[in-house]
Amino acid sequence: MASERTKAEIKIVRRVARWFAGAARPLAWRTTPRDAYRSLVSEVMLQQTQVSRVLEKFDGFVARFPTAAALARADEGEVLAAWSGLGYYRRARLLHAAARAIVQRHAGEVPRSVEALCELPGVGRYTAGAIASIVFGRDAPIVDGNVARVLLRISARPLATDKAMGWAWKKAERLATLAHGRGVVGGFNEGLMELGATICTPASPRCGSCPVARLCAARAKGTQGSIPRPKARAAVRAMVCEVVVVVDRLGRLLVERRGAGGMWGGLWQAPTHEHEGGAAARNLSTLMALQGVRVGRVAMEFEHATTHRRVVFRVRRARAARPESLLALGRERRWATREEIAGLGLSSAQRRILLGDG
Ligand code: SF4
Repeated sequence: MASERTKAEIKIVRRVARWFAGAARPLAWRTTPRDAYRSLVSEVMLQQTQVSRVLEKFDGFVARFPTAAALARADEGEVLAAWSGLGYYRRARLLHAAARAIVQRHAGEVPRSVEALCELPGVGRYTAGAIASIVFGRDAPIVDGNVARVLLRISARPLATDKAMGWAWKKAERLATLAHGRGVVGGFNEGLMELGATICTPASPRCGSCPVARLCAARAKGTQGSIPRPKARAAVRAMVCEVVVVVDRLGRLLVERRGAGGMWGGLWQAPTHEHEGGAAARNLSTLMALQGVRVGRVAMEFEHATTHRRVVFRVRRARAARPESLLALGRERRWATREEIAGLGLSSAQRRILLGDG
C-alpha cells in the first residue's frame, strides 16, 4: 500500500504532467518528437539566459549547424559568431567541444544515459537529466532554481535555494521515478520547469492558476511569498575597460582577438585595456600615443552589468597614420570593415562599440 506521502506525490506528478500537456509554450525546440541535438543546444543556451533571448538566436544557430556533426566540423570563430548576443561564451566553446565528443565517441548521436551525457563537456546533471528524461523518457530528475523553488513551496520548506539543492535533488528523484513508472517522466519534468517559469514565479506566484494549488503546503500556510529565503548576495567586482576605436584611411577598424580564458575568451574587440580603476586608467591611450596614434577624449561611456561584475566601458576614438605598425602588438590583430566585423564573435558591449548596436 502506498503511504499518504506517496499518494500525494503521485497526484502532484499526474497534475503537473497533465497541466503541461495543455499549457506548454510552443518553443522552437519543443518539436514532436523531440530532437536530442536541438534539446542539447537549447539547454546550453538557456543556462543563464532568458527564454526570450534564446528564442532570438536558436533558429539561426541550428540552421547554421543543423546536427552535432555540422557543429563539430565548424571552426570556433564561426561558432562564437553564431553565439553572439547570448553572452557567457564559455558555453559556446563547451557546446562545440561536446559536439566533437558526440561525433568521436557516439558516432554523431547524442547519448541517451545521464552518465554518458554528463561526460560531455559543459553538460552537468541538470542538462543531462533534461535530455535523458524529456527526449528519451529515462528515469532521471532535473533541478534548477525554478524547479527547486516549486518543490520548496509545495513542501513549505523555508530555505534559501542554494542551501536546499541536496534536498531538492532527492525530492525530484523520488517524483521522477513515480512519473517514470506512469510513463510521464518527460512531461512531468518539463512541466515542473514550466510551472516555475510561468506560474510559480519568484515574486508573485499565481496560485489561482496552479495545477497543484490544493496540494501545496506553502499555499495552505500562506507562506509562499517568503519561500525560498533570499540568498546572501555574492560580491560584485567593479572593472573599467579602456577602449580605443582606431580607424585607418580606408575606414577600416582595428580589431583584436582575446586569449582563450575568461568571460569573453576567444571573442573579438577593439583594442581594450582592463583594470580595476585608479592610476592605470590611461594605459591603453598612452601605449597608442607611443605608436604615433593620436587618441581623443572619452567619446562614449556606458556600464555593462553581469551577475558578478559591473564593467564601465570608456571609449576613445583615434586615427592611425601607419596602420601596419599597430598589427604587431602581441595579440591577434587585423584591420576589418564593418561588414567583416559583423560576422565575428563579439560580446554585446563590443558590438555596441564597434557597430553601434547590441
Ligand atoms: S500553489 Fe502557488 S506556491 Fe504552490 S506551487 Fe502553485 S504557484 Fe507555487
